[in-house]
Amino acid sequence: MDLYEYQARELFASHDVPVLPGVVAETGEDARAAALGLGGAVVIKAQVKTGGRGKAGGVKLAPHPDEARRKADDILGMDIKGHRVGKVLVTTATDIADEYYFSYLLDRANRTFLAMASVEGGVEIEETAVSNPGALVRIPIDPLTGVDAAKAAQIVSAAGLPSASAEAVQRLWTTFVAEDALLVEVNPLVRDAGGAIVALDGKVTLDDNAQYRHPGHAGFRDLGAADPLEAKARARNLNYVRLDGQVGVIGNGAGLVMSTLDVVAYAGEAHRVRPANFLDLGGGASAEVMANGLEVVLSDPGVRSVLVNVFGGITACDAVADGIVRAFALLRSRGEPIDRPVVVRLDGNRADEGRRILRVAALPGLELVDTMDGAAARAAELAAQEA
Ligand code: GDP
Ligand code: MN
Repeated sequence: MDLYEYQARELFASHDVPVLPGVVAETGEDARAAALGLGGAVVIKAQVKTGGRGKAGGVKLAPHPDEARRKADDILGMDIKGHRVGKVLVTTATDIADEYYFSYLLDRANRTFLAMASVEGGVEIEETAVSNPGALVRIPIDPLTGVDAAKAAQIVSAAGLPSASAEAVQRLWTTFVAEDALLVEVNPLVRDAGGAIVALDGKVTLDDNAQYRHPGHAGFRDLGAADPLEAKARARNLNYVRLDGQVGVIGNGAGLVMSTLDVVAYAGEAHRVRPANFLDLGGGASAEVMANGLEVVLSDPGVRSVLVNVFGGITACDAVADGIVRAFALLRSRGEPIDRPVVVRLDGNRADEGRRILRVAALPGLELVDTMDGAAARAAELAAQEA
């Protein structure tokens, strides 16, 4: 999960990384009030989860509160690389002497953590990394020893950062570890006119697999910015990932669903259709879960057919078949009847009984196919016909 700058700065502050005071505003008037409260000049910053705001006009200096309102009105509603600005951060302006780049990240290729730092921080860092790669220093970090005062001193001296920044570098590591982050990036980390080191910007990616250890992170989740269908699925506790094809895929068990995606992609080549999503119902496919799954998959206007691929285990196929029958009824009663063909393949525990239940129910638009390859081919064919 990526955080907004203002959220990253909250985390920094909680680990004593120096940041400037700031207030989030959603209207020009609130931005004006925030600027009044902060006193003096402020910077108005678009809160979007993408880089290059500064260059896109999403970061503006406002010397007094009326100017803060005008600048906030300009920035709110802006489109920055496809992200609409709904919030701005109003923060105290600083007199910058130097801008540095600093980050910690998980270096998967080398199976280690990495500190990256440069004295050429600021909005041009991406260009600098390409045109002058030597200006960006990379230092591996041993996860067992981490970043103590000595390591921090070594990092800042290798990168040419002032020794005064070592403390912030050490605290950023504490933040990275304590919050289970995959990325902590500060660009720019600045030295102000008085010599103080301050994190002026913040980009943090948290490890979703560690979320259970951080109940406090739940508040960072922002359902508005996610894909609306993924948000809908998450609200229903479904493990759903939207793709861009035409064949909806529902299965039980992540491994089975992954291989179903492969088989649908393969079968779909002849029909020029692809899987539309990943959806794992997990164990125990009750009618409610099945109905929610079908509803989410069919909410995608790109879906033209659905493949339900179930391997009966502890939850046997007859229970799943019952779930499907009741899901059709449930969706009809919700006023959202299933309006696209559904191909079902049942195998494993009590598959025969499950198939019998579906044959007897004779649900409109539902077809049974016994093999996974056959079911994928039929679903692909139907999706192509529906086009
Ligand atoms: P980004 O473009 O999305 O990375 O946004 P940043 O927060 O990094 O801001 C972009 C640039 O605006 C920085 O590199 C600074 O040069 C400038 N900037 C940001 N905050 C301040 C501030 O408080 N004072 C001054 N003078 N400049 C700032
Ligand atoms: Mn930045």
